[in-house]
Amino acid sequence: MEYEPVIGLEVHAQLLTQSKMFCACSADYAGAPPNTHVCPVCLGLPGALPTINKLAVEYTILTALAFHCSIPEFAKFDRKNYHYPDLMKGYQISQYDLPLSLDGYILIDDAGVSKSQIPEAERRVRIGVRRVHLEEDTAKLFHVDGTSLVDVNRSGVPLMEIVSEPDMHSVEEARLYSMKLRQILRYLGVSSGDMEKGAMRFEANISLRPKGSTTLSQTRTEIKNLNSLRAMVHATEYEIARQTKILERGGTVEQETMGWDEARNVTVTQRSKEEAHDYRYFPEPDLPRLEVSRAWVADIQSKLPELPDDKCERWMREYGLSAYDAGVLSAEKEIAAYYDRAVDEGKQRQVDPKVIANWVSGELFRLMKDTNAEIDAVKIKPAQIADLIVLINNGTISNNIAKTVFEEMYLSGRDPGVIVQEKGLAQISDRGALDSIAEKVLAENPKQVADYLAGKETIARFLIGQVMKATKGQANPGLVNEIVLQKLQKMKQ
Ligand code: ADP
Ligand code: MG
Ligand code: ZN
Repeated sequence: MEYEPVIGLEVHAQLLTQSKMFCACSADYAGAPPNTHVCPVCLGLPGALPTINKLAVEYTILTALAFHCSIPEFAKFDRKNYHYPDLMKGYQISQYDLPLSLDGYILIDDAGVSKSQIPEAERRVRIGVRRVHLEEDTAKLFHVDGTSLVDVNRSGVPLMEIVSEPDMHSVEEARLYSMKLRQILRYLGVSSGDMEKGAMRFEANISLRPKGSTTLSQTRTEIKNLNSLRAMVHATEYEIARQTKILERGGTVEQETMGWDEARNVTVTQRSKEEAHDYRYFPEPDLPRLEVSRAWVADIQSKLPELPDDKCERWMREYGLSAYDAGVLSAEKEIAAYYDRAVDEGKQRQVDPKVIANWVSGELFRLMKDTNAEIDAVKIKPAQIADLIVLINNGTISNNIAKTVFEEMYLSGRDPGVIVQEKGLAQISDRGALDSIAEKVLAENPKQVADYLAGKETIARFLIGQVMKATKGQANPGLVNEIVLQKLQKMKQ
């Protein structure tokens, strides 16, 4: 029998607020000495009282709106009780039955069909988002030399949890969903999505069912502590293979919570169904129920920036970009903004946005890759890209010379016009000058000229190339073409 994987993801993302979720400690703890960003609240000392971080709530609602969720009028915080040395209070303040948002979705471009001829709009796969809620991060444990150390700096950092529906059916879909989710968080500016710094973590729920079936398997496994996209992908692949083997043997998959052993590349059981956690959720008595007014939601909604899908659609519709180009240019918010600015700068001067797209995704990306640079370190200003294209359009430089100029712009950040002037790169469109160069080239290549006259007309390309070479590529190619062919024609008569 053939099986189909069913995958649901729980993604945790730290929010980029200045202070922590329930106290005034700085949430920017990266690189700080251990246990310096702490107070009685995040240390979990008895009697300390939490207060809600308003911006964290707004970021969560903003994210939920970006994922097309509905925002209930009331939300509530609850205590999730369990004991672990990284949980200072013995419970985590989270949200149980009244989360900040419900029922949204994320659209992904399904890799399986994206290369086919199916129209763009129909290629999208819709992955349900069950809820986006808000909770607090835990402290961090370090296991060294047989003992464990705790750093409480991370305790109480606002943590958003995005829970998907079990709508993904391949590892690739889980990967695309995660990337799209991260991209949107970064566009919104609510989370860095930096997995190396632990700002984004995954839990994967996996089950298998007979292909064609539409019911969910009663048992699934949950893999916790996946700290990177790579770990999520590998763990999910491994778990699908493991469950497939069990089913093919005629066995049954047990409901389990598992961990991912990064070193050995295997999933390991953490707890089975019998010892399943009972978190004894109950409403957090120290926090009031949160009233989410419609005016507040509308205000947050008005702050939603243009998101990647909308950007791509606009670029394709208005500028005629291909889906591929729109995709690479919108991958990062900063690059998309750079491109948008360059297009704006070129608008009054009839610079084609498609040509700008080619320069950014071609030459600029190549140079950035070669020099290992991010967009904010790029010295070329968006307006200068438009300037360069104007120089090509008005015949001052050829496309080839423009590439040389572009490299120089990249190194120095100087204006293309200045570079062309200083280096004497302007195109030679002087008919008289080109005529005498062509004359000389024909005289120096009698054999090729004879071949041409004998009927081998393709040799003209070589002679034109020689003239271009003699001018170090600066001659106006159209003009050279015309002059050389004219001369050859004349010799024929
Ligand atoms: P719990 O209440 O135990 O946390 P949920 O039903 O809320 O479990 O689901 C948690 C996650 O597990 C969600 O992301 C959901 O999509 C996923 N999930 C639920 N059922 C399945 C299943 N049969 N196979 C794979 N994933 C599932
Ligand atoms: Mg879970
Ligand atoms: Zn604190």
